Amino acid sequence: MGRLVVVSNRVGPLKDTGRAGGLAVALVDALTQTGGLWFGWSGEVSEEGTFGQIKEQRTKAVQLAQIDITPADYEDYYAGYANRTLWPVLHYRLDLAVFDRRHETGYRQVNDRFATRLRPLIEADDVLWVHDYHFLTFAAALRAMEVGNPIGFFLHIPFPAPEILAALPNAGSIVRAMLAYDLIGFQTRRDAANFRRFVVEELGGTEVGDSRLSAGGRTVIVKAYPIGIDAEAFSKFAMSPEARRSVSRLEKQLAGRQQIIGVDRIDYSKGLPERFRAFERLLDDYPENRGRVSLMQIAPPSRSELDAYIEIRRTLEELTGHVNGRFSDIDWTPIRFLTRSFPRRVLAGIYRASRVGLVTPLRDGMNLVAKEYVAAQRAEDPGVLVLSRFAGAAEGMPEALVVNPHSAEEVAQGLQSAITMPLEERRDRWQAMFDRLCREDAHAWAQAILSDLRSVA
Ligand code: UDP
Repeated sequence: MGRLVVVSNRVGPLKDTGRAGGLAVALVDALTQTGGLWFGWSGEVSEEGTFGQIKEQRTKAVQLAQIDITPADYEDYYAGYANRTLWPVLHYRLDLAVFDRRHETGYRQVNDRFATRLRPLIEADDVLWVHDYHFLTFAAALRAMEVGNPIGFFLHIPFPAPEILAALPNAGSIVRAMLAYDLIGFQTRRDAANFRRFVVEELGGTEVGDSRLSAGGRTVIVKAYPIGIDAEAFSKFAMSPEARRSVSRLEKQLAGRQQIIGVDRIDYSKGLPERFRAFERLLDDYPENRGRVSLMQIAPPSRSELDAYIEIRRTLEELTGHVNGRFSDIDWTPIRFLTRSFPRRVLAGIYRASRVGLVTPLRDGMNLVAKEYVAAQRAEDPGVLVLSRFAGAAEGMPEALVVNPHSAEEVAQGLQSAITMPLEERRDRWQAMFDRLCREDAHAWAQAILSDLRSVA
């Protein structure tokens, strides 16, 4: 079997330090099986950029290769087209998208230059697997350099309906470039169907069976491969010393009261203001929860150089002040808003000590927090997941309490059902979800994609 070459914006880590997510662990596993190369951006900006030296790191089986980008690349490719254009458009937020021809050009150039640097490292029977929205045009660049190896792609974020995507200038050309991949994987059936519709309606492609598309003289596998977590490892995290310490600190502080937990990067796709308002609605509509049920929101800042992110943080601070001002008591605070991050083992403990996991994105590719919350629960006394129907995770977790995050009333009702749910029902719902998480974990996900991709060769 040929080597695996993985391409993604950020690379590694090779060792699981407890900070690496299930994705990195599954990719390192897959790379180790055949031996391989993981290529991407170093995270650094320098004057030489993509023309500078390749930074290498290796274990016996796996080589990491990373290159810098220039300050202009950072502005146009990364902060510009990837995060100000593609991120909002693919999350259905045309209102927040910036359309600037310079950003698009920079994005395509960085894809071309990354491909040029990778080209000499590719061996004849390598299989390539490219990740996420930073590299939509990467395979097209490699094909122009006569790379004939199988190249697969996985989109970690949503793919919107064609009615939305059509607003992106040159959408047709970007999607046509994607058809240079041999396999295009999406998080959900809906995302895959949206992509197929775009290719059929806008580019004159045709469907071949239910998982292939033919367009522009090529046939491409288009399928949903919902990403999983390393469920067993995460459930062990929840019993680690770090987790136990956070459980006992929290339980002391809660003193028999219940906690709802939310964990999200501060991002407009996560539905955080809507969530805080829904929690306020819970205290309004079901006053028995005042003094008894609190919301802890862990919210590490991200991409804080972008205006949209500064604004949302301010809104959340105001909402916290408003709800706490209305309902706090001398010995109880309704919302605790923590703008910092925690190691995953500590998070596992916090999940375990929280009766309700509240995950209400307005759009999310998958949402791994939803899965991790379930994996961290105690089998004998599990908490309840309240989950947005617009998270990719909802397609595979029907036993969660699935809600519409735009309706404060509906989310408040969901929270009330979660808080009052009898033990037996909590156990039944949890068991079904946990079993599925263990079966459909990150390793199974990587293997499913790689096996389809290798069948192309
Ligand atoms: N996470 C973490 N520490 C934190 C907050 C989050 O390690 O303080 C991790 C979390 O465990 C999860 C990931 O970050 O694995 C978030 O993934 P998700 O799919 O939920 O959202 P994304 O940030 O990718 O949009």
